[in-house]
Amino acid sequence: MKKKETPLMRQYNQIKEKYQDTILLFRLGDFYETFQDDAVITAKACGITLTKRNNGAAGDLPLAGFPHHQLDTYLPRLVKAGHRVAVCEQLEDPKLAKGIVKRGVTEVVTPGVALYDKLLEAKSNTYVATLFFKQEKNGSKRFGIALADASTGEFYCTEVGQNTIKELLESIAPAELIVPKPQKKELIELISSLSSEPALTTLEDWIFETDFAHDILLKHFETQSLKGFGVENMELAVIAAGATISYIKDTQQSGISQIKNLSIYNTSEFMMLDYSTRKNLEITFSNNDPKHGGTLVSILDKTCTPMGGRLLKKWISSPLNSLQPIQKRLDAVEALYLHNDQREFLRLHLNSISDLERLVTKVATGRANPRDVTNIKNSLEKIPLLKEVLNNVDSIALASVASQLDELEDICADIDKALLEEPSVHLGTGNVFKPGYNSELDSYTEAKFSGKNWISEYQEQERNNTGINSLKIGFNNVFGYYIDVTRVHSNKVPENYQRKQTLTNSERYMTAELKDIEEKILNAEEKIGVIETSLFAELRANLALHTETIQKDAQLIASIDCLQSYAQVSVENNYIKPKIHEGTELKIVKGRHPVVEKLLPIGEAFTPNSTTMNSEDELIHIITGPNMSGKSSYLRQTALIVLMGQIGCFVPAESAEYGLVDRIFTRVGAQDNITAGESTFLVEMQEAANIMNNATDHSLILLDEVGRGTATFDGISIAWSIAEYINNRLCAKTLFATHYHELNDLAERYSKIVNYSVEVIEAGHTVIFSHNVVKGATDHSFGIFVAKMAGMPYDVISRAEEILEILENGTNGGSGAKAKPDMSKVKSKKQRHETDQLAIFEFRDDELRDRLAEIKIENITPIQALQLLADLHIEAKKEKK
Ligand code: ADP
Repeated sequence: MKKKETPLMRQYNQIKEKYQDTILLFRLGDFYETFQDDAVITAKACGITLTKRNNGAAGDLPLAGFPHHQLDTYLPRLVKAGHRVAVCEQLEDPKLAKGIVKRGVTEVVTPGVALYDKLLEAKSNTYVATLFFKQEKNGSKRFGIALADASTGEFYCTEVGQNTIKELLESIAPAELIVPKPQKKELIELISSLSSEPALTTLEDWIFETDFAHDILLKHFETQSLKGFGVENMELAVIAAGATISYIKDTQQSGISQIKNLSIYNTSEFMMLDYSTRKNLEITFSNNDPKHGGTLVSILDKTCTPMGGRLLKKWISSPLNSLQPIQKRLDAVEALYLHNDQREFLRLHLNSISDLERLVTKVATGRANPRDVTNIKNSLEKIPLLKEVLNNVDSIALASVASQLDELEDICADIDKALLEEPSVHLGTGNVFKPGYNSELDSYTEAKFSGKNWISEYQEQERNNTGINSLKIGFNNVFGYYIDVTRVHSNKVPENYQRKQTLTNSERYMTAELKDIEEKILNAEEKIGVIETSLFAELRANLALHTETIQKDAQLIASIDCLQSYAQVSVENNYIKPKIHEGTELKIVKGRHPVVEKLLPIGEAFTPNSTTMNSEDELIHIITGPNMSGKSSYLRQTALIVLMGQIGCFVPAESAEYGLVDRIFTRVGAQDNITAGESTFLVEMQEAANIMNNATDHSLILLDEVGRGTATFDGISIAWSIAEYINNRLCAKTLFATHYHELNDLAERYSKIVNYSVEVIEAGHTVIFSHNVVKGATDHSFGIFVAKMAGMPYDVISRAEEILEILENGTNGGSGAKAKPDMSKVKSKKQRHETDQLAIFEFRDDELRDRLAEIKIENITPIQALQLLADLHIEAKKEKK
């Protein structure tokens, strides 16, 4: 038989039942409490104590809780740990409640649906995405996908085939992914293969019905059809969108009126970047320490507003694939690039614009406080200044953006009339509205402040009357106003003082006059609270009517911010405007790597390199050169220049002219994906296969060390045949860096394949990497030299040199593909010892040694010793030359 639980726990259990996979924060007086398993998780995630609560005959329950005012601290911790959290509030005043206080969940915060500032990053979106698929007749899957950022109101949907879905998810990087329960099993492999795995939520399959999706979307947008959104024929996308709205609605009791629009996420407008390309080119994340900052975004981000920062990330991750929009951006950047003064003004104004997108969401969902509203007004007031600048830079595109910006003068004037310059964040303080805005509010504010003045005068008066200088009038929530007299002065207390409270060192009193004023003040404060709350709700609701216009302004401002960021970074880093055309040729003169050039140690200059590629005689570049000479940087710099042009930014080069690229493919370096159970070589081959299957004559391919993950002959064969396939079938521009000098022979057989190498200058016992990429092959790898640079012990280096010499002299075919090292000629350690002995003998005649041997150490002073050392040093240097 089930043991009897307390009425409170019964209420808790009833609510908890509806929130099974969710941590329920249950408001109990001034605390949020969690029970049972939730308590164990909460205690761990938040670092708070796990205790027990009595539950009547049902026994003790694990419990963990925290004071209500710490919700902002602990709730984000739980969500960041990957949990969904339901906030259950008291829905009535506990003082007025009959029996158990009414409680209900007011909000569910999830990793993908979060409106808490502490859970959001200013320059990143937090997306929840919904995935739904249908099996097509040919057996392949077609996906509907929707994504929303509840904090900004962005809402998109689209449909893609199974070949694109992974790339799309990688580029969106949702924080949470919703899938239909019955499809979870089939999607799990795809989801767990994502580089940053989202939190997974499953929903019942009836939520993914077409009719349900239509109904919920029409109801939400209050429209008759979905035609206006252009999605009426995209059944799968609509289903995903419907499920997304249903999910977000369920989490937000205060409504989701910030979501005003549904747009098609048009993948065909962008160049899809697969994960390995994103990773290899370090576009938005670095392969090194994240704090290192070595990403393209970190270099290009000179945005001044959070929404600009968010859009810049999107632009950089989604290069455009048609000329017209690219040209439009480039022209706008040029205008801002050329008008330095205007750009400076623009940056100045943008810097004082707040995160309009997220602020207006707060307004629409009734969360905005008075300070948020003034921030919106102050930001909107900058619009006329932005317009002035945009109209002054001789750009049709920017002037057109300016004309679309809406100043919302009327609502700004209303806010200006109502709110103080810097209103209090909280309502009910009397420090929100301007005097004169509401006469009733003014009279209570007056009463409150005059009451407070009266109290300070009364304190002065009572000090004089009683002669107690330490007498103080104070206030607390339980006892109201009181006169505090320290115990030593108790004998001076007049008769009209009535004792209220006794403390260790003092007594607290009340008088009839004070009581009278207290009532007036408290009454005034209560009234101020009521009036301010209702006036502010009205103001906020009026502002909420303009949500869509403000969102549009925010998006326009974000794009202006991105364009000025491009212009600013182009001026600072000396970038130039690229010329992009429909052809396939590429000609970059003195190109630079945008990130490497910024991160070089002080005193080191970046060596620019030119690149010419075309489909006649420069289609594939085989690039050889030692490690650390700059091959990878050169490959990446070419791809980054192309990418930068296609996001509409200027590029690091003296000049750059190239045909629009449809895809950039990279296969760079050895990467392990051991966690996913894949060997390095398998990953390498998967990436190479992806390139071979998808590249076209408009693609740019970077191959760095293909075939290294297997035995030499295997590797060379694969690399060779890949190069041939690209040459004969794909006709894609390819930069192929390799250690296999054997591949240089390809250039002799195919007219479109050319050999390049990174120049190395040999100087005595050392070599200098000039980082210059020059025409022609090299057959020297300098691997041992690099090992020396890396600090390898001397013995290892000298032994390696010996072996290399023997192998190079002893192989039966020089650098030909069939050469095989003959290890039988390499001597053993013992044999080598004899050689070492011989080597020492050979030094016998060394003049410097003789001089060293002649020194009588015991007879020279330290100064003489130093002088001698200096002489020997000069001598030794001379000999080297
Ligand atoms: P590789 O691929 O040949 O091993 P990297 O491209 O990784 O060489 O370059 C090694 C280092 O050389 C880089 O980290 C950078 O510091 C420097 N470097 C590369 N290219 C240049 C250049 N063009 N000018 C100056 N330094 C360069």
